[in-house]
Amino acid sequence: MQTLNVAARLRSSGLLRTKGLIGGKWRDAYDGRTIEVHNPADGEVIASVPFMGGRETKDAISSAYNALSHWRKLTAADRSSRLRNWYNLLFEHKEELGQLITLEQGKPLREAIGEVVYSAKFIEFFAEEAKRVYGDIIPSPLSDRRLFVLKEPVGVVGAITPWNFPLAMISRKAGPALACGCTVIIKPSELTPLTALAAAELALQSGIPPGVLNVVMGDAPSIGDSLQESTEVRKITFTGSTGVGKKLMAGASDTVKKVSLELGGNAPCIIFDDADLEAAVKGSLSTKFHNTGQQCVCTNRVLVQEGIYEKFINAYSKAVQNLKVGNGLSEGVTQGPLINDAAVQKVDSFVQDAISKGAKVLLGGKRHSLGFSFYEPTIIGDVSNEMLIARQEVFGPVAPIIRFKTEEEAIQIANDTDSGLAAYVFTNSIQRSWRVSEALEYGMVGVNEGSISTEVAPFGGFKQSGLGREGSKYGMDDYLEIKYVCMGNMG
Ligand code: NAD
Repeated sequence: MQTLNVAARLRSSGLLRTKGLIGGKWRDAYDGRTIEVHNPADGEVIASVPFMGGRETKDAISSAYNALSHWRKLTAADRSSRLRNWYNLLFEHKEELGQLITLEQGKPLREAIGEVVYSAKFIEFFAEEAKRVYGDIIPSPLSDRRLFVLKEPVGVVGAITPWNFPLAMISRKAGPALACGCTVIIKPSELTPLTALAAAELALQSGIPPGVLNVVMGDAPSIGDSLQESTEVRKITFTGSTGVGKKLMAGASDTVKKVSLELGGNAPCIIFDDADLEAAVKGSLSTKFHNTGQQCVCTNRVLVQEGIYEKFINAYSKAVQNLKVGNGLSEGVTQGPLINDAAVQKVDSFVQDAISKGAKVLLGGKRHSLGFSFYEPTIIGDVSNEMLIARQEVFGPVAPIIRFKTEEEAIQIANDTDSGLAAYVFTNSIQRSWRVSEALEYGMVGVNEGSISTEVAPFGGFKQSGLGREGSKYGMDDYLEIKYVCMGNMG
């Protein structure tokens, strides 16, 4: 009932959009097929959206291609002011957008509104960066020549995004792409398309011209194939699983497109004996249980040094016990459901595998009595780095604890993975902070802090966690081509 009431309110506010957006027009699929979007907290159907495929994607590519020459030729100040309008509208509608995120994704409303604010700040940041796309003058080796470097938009961008941050993953891509003068086709997850459509509605209202930002969803492989095969699409930016990312990277080779990938992580959170216990508990709680553990930068392994082990486990268990599980729309809830039943099954299979190999459940360890996609906040002790739970992303509210003796051992365990996205270190030694940060093979390191992502800093990973960076000035690079101009006969 709660779901339907909130959905009805959003529908009347005009933010619950249920069609794809192509060339500024809200469109159904050619064959009329649709898919339902469910609330993972109660299984209710929120709305249905078009199940689009290759044909609609080709239309979206044509629209984006046609809109490109106008958009890239606007002055940077003009593009910037439209992006700033978008930021203002996102901010203004943060409560409704937050409700929409909670409805389709499940996270607690407070976290969802936090995601809207985080997302809007990327748009604001890139609205400013739009005005700072400078070229270079190269000192010429010949007196009659002048040499310049210009930076130009790469062109049409295909942006494929996951369900865990339905708005942030879009703003981190659309923000820099539009700032650079590119046009975009967004392919959100079919599990959470409604937030993408609401954001696109606000983009239209903010003066971003028709065709500059398009949204298609439905048959993911067929949409992905159309984006990859098109010679008009010059870049694919993807956030999601490592397997799909590898496929997209291989597929982009035929047309030699640029590819940026934000893929899975396997973050270690290392608690040293000399850590401030309170900071370590607070930090490892937020990095593990935020968004019900469904984050690429989530702690996947808590490494605890033997001297602080008992104290840490006691304090951590108390903090985890205090999490309130429930429907994200309900007051006081701090842990929502997982995205769907398949996710619950996967999390539980990892827990069972660990138990069968000698790990011990210290807290939780099973489906929550609330049913649907709820899982108990869980701590598993006596985990070794060889167990499945430590090798792959759990993507759920489960903290596997690995005990270690020395700093060298902690670094060896932390780096023993193909992923390299985020890592966290808790210690009161400045020397150790520096030493360990340098030794960790990760794109991002949090020292005495579990929540590190911001629009002003580069987000991205080493090894198989991805290619390229989002956010900060570096986030613009992937959407710009470098053109060298040599002017002769200038003596
Ligand atoms: P996913 O790979 O299943 O899906 C991501 C997107 O790709 C969705 O829109 C999906 O429909 C689409 N897709 C699936 N198959 C496709 C295909 N063949 N061609 C084109 N598109 C296709 O991932 P998910 O389950 O939605 O998201 C969870 C994953 O995302 C986790 O591994 C998580 O670590 C990762 N993630 C990474 C970051 C980061 O910044 N590194 C951020 C958030 C999530």
